[in-house]
Amino acid sequence: MLYFVQENKLHRFPTPKRCGCKHKNEPLRDTIPHGVEQCAFCINYWPGDDCYQPISD
Ligand SMILES: [Zn+2]
Repeated sequence: MLYFVQENKLHRFPTPKRCGCKHKNEPLRDTIPHGVEQCAFCINYWPGDDCYQPISD
């Protein structure tokens, strides 16, 4: 899974529809950076997201 940071929030790429943010030219990364907030829409497990796993440290 890929992620990117926008406005100090960690989002998933590709971004799910429920998240209003759009990836622009932020660098994509496959690790979770520390010190950034995690976008609840992107990162949290939501019902119906069978293929998404919650993140645990
Ligand atoms: Zn997001």
